[in-house]
Amino acid sequence: MLNPTMRILVVEDESKTACYLRKGLTESGFNVDVASNGNDGAHLALTEDYDLILLDVMLPGSDGWSILQSLRRTRQTPVLFLTAKGTVEDRVKGLELGADDYLVKPFAFSELLARVRSILRRGTARQPDVLQVADLMIDLPRHRVCRGDERIDLTAKEFNLLLLLTRRAGEVLSRTLIAEQVWDMNFDSDTNVVDVAIRRLRAKVDDPFERKLIHNVRGVGYVLEDRQ
Ligand code: CA
Repeated sequence: MLNPTMRILVVEDESKTACYLRKGLTESGFNVDVASNGNDGAHLALTEDYDLILLDVMLPGSDGWSILQSLRRTRQTPVLFLTAKGTVEDRVKGLELGADDYLVKPFAFSELLARVRSILRRGTARQPDVLQVADLMIDLPRHRVCRGDERIDLTAKEFNLLLLLTRRAGEVLSRTLIAEQVWDMNFDSDTNVVDVAIRRLRAKVDDPFERKLIHNVRGVGYVLEDRQ
């Protein structure tokens, strides 16, 4: 898949550490958001799409443990714990709650970067090879889309758009979110491009078939789901 810039959320209340992480990760080519307290961190983690979350444990507002716990109810975003507590119990607790790795402060940036890259590689490997909704199948390794026995040819953008909708099937996605994820555009960009792309995608994926999967939710955005 053509990968737009990987997005990383840093939840860290020490501004010096947060700045250092933002600078280092941005220079390494990542798109970085920073939350300086647990409540903002939890909100971003649950509403935005990140490829990885760097999560401090001791935070004002929700702590890292409870953020991870609520995140894991609905999302599998990889989490790397940044912790000043290096006891065995804390590490085990983090891993049991579903953290992917942890790093004890203070750490060298080079080590953090190595762990981040390793988790992101694993993250890609962990995704299922085939996604399916009704008779729609997306074969990721082969970059192939079918409905039933019929093969559908898509452009790279159309493929990424369909992949986003299918990965989050049943969830209404706003034009803004789609524009950000598929075109890596900003909030205030022209989201007309999304409507045009959806129309083209539907012409290939839905129009020739009786069972429609891509639906317009007026005033909100689009959802892919089987409504039969
Ligand atoms: Ca802290």
